[in-house]
Amino acid sequence: MTFRTRFAPSPTGPLHLGHAFSAITAYDMATAAGGIFHLRIDDIDQSRSRPAWEAQIFDDLHWLGLSWPMPVLRQSERLPRYCDALLRLWDMGLLYSCSCTRADIRAAASAPQEGAPLHGPDGLIYSGTCRPATPPKGVMPIDSALRLDMARALASVSSPLAFSESGEGPNGETGSITPHNMVQTVGDVVLARRAMGASYHLSVVIDDADQSITHVIRGQDLFAATQIHVLLQRLLDLPTPLYHHHGLIRDAQGKRLAKRDDARAIKTYRAEGASPAKIRQMIGL
Ligand code: GLU
Repeated sequence: MTFRTRFAPSPTGPLHLGHAFSAITAYDMATAAGGIFHLRIDDIDQSRSRPAWEAQIFDDLHWLGLSWPMPVLRQSERLPRYCDALLRLWDMGLLYSCSCTRADIRAAASAPQEGAPLHGPDGLIYSGTCRPATPPKGVMPIDSALRLDMARALASVSSPLAFSESGEGPNGETGSITPHNMVQTVGDVVLARRAMGASYHLSVVIDDADQSITHVIRGQDLFAATQIHVLLQRLLDLPTPLYHHHGLIRDAQGKRLAKRDDARAIKTYRAEGASPAKIRQMIGL
């Protein structure tokens, strides 16, 4: 099977050194394996995505010496595809609509009887205010968020979930990883956001399958989300690729770089006259 990987940035700001590390790592691994490196545009959040940032991504990656097959896949063009997957999960009785605001979720999670609020890979763990006792019937609503009923979803898979990690999670996790306790540590994740159609978790799983991605190479910040992705693959009968999570590039204070760190943007280094070789050297490649 041909080695296929992808780099999937969101066009919501400039690429920084951490993105360069991720993209070059994936590109180098694909090249070494005689495989294919895809660029994918994760622009599911249209309220924050900008064409100018997408153009900058193309420009920066070409400048770094990377190339990929065209045309690239854009999430914003694939909403009907994600909707099909949601309908399938809805028909399986695994989704319910949720009208809670962020403030509602915070308030419920910090109510005295609930103890300290618990964070999972998807933010605050949902306390289940809108979760129905029995699966909802009828037409899937499209004007509200849809959550996965985690307990029901886990009960509907027949054998333990597992994935193979050839890199390392933030706590040194490697080899065969078996998620557990997802009801408590992940909870009912959002699979469709109101006005956005699909959440990151759903779209990334469908995209990886449709592009026949064999190796997902990405930062350790997404390690904890992988168990959600593996569960969705099982529910939707999709293959589970191999995962390789890499360490994150941090600033002098040890903080993970973010899009707002304009000072570490590739475009800033380019404007200052840095070469692609210099960027590779700065990130230890
Ligand atoms: N779009 C995601 C990000 O920019 C990456 C998705 C992935 O690699 O799975 O963090």
